[in-house]
Amino acid sequence: MLQNVEYVKSDSFSSLDASVSYGELEKTLDKPVMQMESNVERVGVPVTYAVGDTPYWLSDCLKDAQNMIIEHHQEKPDDKNFIDCAKFFADKIFGVKIQNNGNASGDINLIGDLPSQPSYKICIHDVLGYDARDNRRMVTIVLVHQLLHAIHPSRAHDSTSMRNGINRIEHEIANKASYHDALLNLESLYQSGKINRCQI
Ligand SMILES: [Zn+2]
Repeated sequence: MLQNVEYVKSDSFSSLDASVSYGELEKTLDKPVMQMESNVERVGVPVTYAVGDTPYWLSDCLKDAQNMIIEHHQEKPDDKNFIDCAKFFADKIFGVKIQNNGNASGDINLIGDLPSQPSYKICIHDVLGYDARDNRRMVTIVLVHQLLHAIHPSRAHDSTSMRNGINRIEHEIANKASYHDALLNLESLYQSGKINRCQI
């Protein structure tokens, strides 16, 4: 089992403070982060990170979660500026970090009165905060859930007669992408009381 625990400092999202304009933020994010060790041959492709220097494995999970949604969720985002989820993910900025927010499996900073939110901060419970296969798969599902909140901020967790809720869509995507094991492992953590379900 890998013990490569990578915690992100609690202030690592300070670059997303309201005092920083979106334009400035974009400029910062456009800068590639290069591996500068002199004894390591520099690779031609610059290494870039999501907001807040998201650990590499969390970035992998974020990409996997986004691809699962693009492949298995055909509904358009609530934000009418985007014709599909692929465009939504391409044009928005997402940061992921490990942080215990009220013991919830995951959390996202939805800004209720902002119709077209440009950036999102997603927190993952620290019980899932180290790089291991099972954790990666559970984190990916937690990210699918939180990304669905971003795509459909008007929706509740439970389905209504008119449309599917976030939980149902999350389960559909996980099953289509063969992530049943991650759903079961998460359910076990909920049942044991180690983490709580998303509170948004
Ligand atoms: Zn939720």
